[in-house]
Amino acid sequence: MTDTANAWTEERLAELRKLWDQGLSISQIGDALGVSRNAIAGKAHRMGLPKRPSPISKSTSETKKPAKPKAPVEPVNLPLRLELRKLQWSRSKCCWPSGDPKLNGFSFCGDTIVPGKPYCLKHCEEAYTTSRDNR
Ligand SMILES: [Zn+2]
Repeated sequence: MTDTANAWTEERLAELRKLWDQGLSISQIGDALGVSRNAIAGKAHRMGLPKRPSPISKSTSETKKPAKPKAPVEPVNLPLRLELRKLQWSRSKCCWPSGDPKLNGFSFCGDTIVPGKPYCLKHCEEAYTTSRDNR
């Protein structure tokens, strides 16, 4: 991205407004104008353009977080933490995965966790003792 790409000329503002009216997604408009999604979103906000749902969030429609949740420290190596966030799984419950995350029957253990750990006692033992079965 160059400096000129960040400059909002009248021409580019008109283009942004036009593409916005055409119903293009923020990222599509960003591509067209050569600026980041954030730049488009910020500019559109300042211009008072009507909001539109981000296409990225369509698969998480049941996820309604009003504000930033308090963010406890998450284990960095928990492979399913994104899935967990999506499912809004209670952090006081064991998040040991059960089944295949790509399949429908996928769920989490749900037992009460060991304080400070992401899993219940049984799964803590499984997680921290069976490193050979590294899932
Ligand atoms: Zn468990």
